[in-house]
Amino acid sequence: MNIPYVDLAGQNTLLKKEILSAINNVLKSGQFILGDKVKDFEDSFAGLCGTKYALGVGTGTDALILSLRALDIGEGSEVITVANSFVSTASCIALAGAKPVFVDVGEDYNINPALVENAINPRTKAILPVHLTGRPADMTAILKIAKAHNLAVVEDCAQAVCAEYKNKPVGSFGAIGCFSLHPLKNLSACGDGGMITVNDENLYKKMQILRNNGFSSRNDCDVWSPNSRLDTVQAALLLVKLKYLKEWTDKRRENASFYQKYLSGLTQIKVPIEQPYEKSVYHTFVIQAENREKLIEYLKEKGIGAKIHYPIPIHLQPAAKKLGYKPGSLPVTERQSKLILSLPIYPGLSKKELKYIVNCICDFYQQ
Ligand SMILES: *Cc1c(COP(=O)(O)O)cnc(C)c1O
Repeated sequence: MNIPYVDLAGQNTLLKKEILSAINNVLKSGQFILGDKVKDFEDSFAGLCGTKYALGVGTGTDALILSLRALDIGEGSEVITVANSFVSTASCIALAGAKPVFVDVGEDYNINPALVENAINPRTKAILPVHLTGRPADMTAILKIAKAHNLAVVEDCAQAVCAEYKNKPVGSFGAIGCFSLHPLKNLSACGDGGMITVNDENLYKKMQILRNNGFSSRNDCDVWSPNSRLDTVQAALLLVKLKYLKEWTDKRRENASFYQKYLSGLTQIKVPIEQPYEKSVYHTFVIQAENREKLIEYLKEKGIGAKIHYPIPIHLQPAAKKLGYKPGSLPVTERQSKLILSLPIYPGLSKKELKYIVNCICDFYQQ
């Protein structure tokens, strides 16, 4: 059997007719930047996330940078976040001109709220939690700390569209939520794209200006800013995909239940367990595995793609050198980075393929 880690082409093959027709309509309209399709997608996305507004931008990374800039977070400011995420989680802070401050994570791979207060100082302006793997961070605790210290919360929801914490969708808790539509994400463009969710009208208006070269009207440029908009062609095909998102999310959750059922008996691996107050959307299904490198090799021999998200924590990346972290600075993050392994979890996986993956993992540890 050959089971890739993801099957990006598969999803598009199934929707080919619908997607081509949506693209064709954009070609015919001649409207390639913003316009009705982008607005329709933004409105649907805001509805999905339970916020008043949503804004389409160029990438998830830009969503994060523009959000911080909209909150006037720049030089002299600090933002508290995690180091076990994709690099954008921290680079956005530096790119906005501020300083990323890392705290360690818990067994759920999300920010450990008990460690946040210690990292706060007079320069701290925001907390940037990530809903990593598609599992919501502990928003009750995070919002409580933010409120007590008058900090903004910017949620990195790039992996977590439709995830819920206490029956409320992620992206609706903080001042701003940031999403990625990168082809690997649960809801994806055929190229790059990003979304911002927000309730505050002033912030919404500010970010409309920030994504559009700083123009507040046709001829008035209020502030230097890049050009970062969601392409109309992407919005049109995303409106098609949006109709299937619930089905895909349910399928990811079913796949996760299967793994949870058949892998939790193995003492050599640790499987994520969902809490009753959370709904995880399993962007990745991350286990912690004894003998990880050999397991990856074994799975590869058996035709199964598995990946590590992420092998090098951000605080130990060359780009982070100036921040002064060292091996040992974030013990849980670093320990997990040596054990974690993401198994295939995409919606198109068949029962037969899931069984095969589970059997191979069991065989590996029993041989
Ligand atoms: C993918 C991702 C991003 C960046 O999104 P892009 O659209 O690739 O710029 C940011 N944060 C996290 C957690 C991600 O997974």
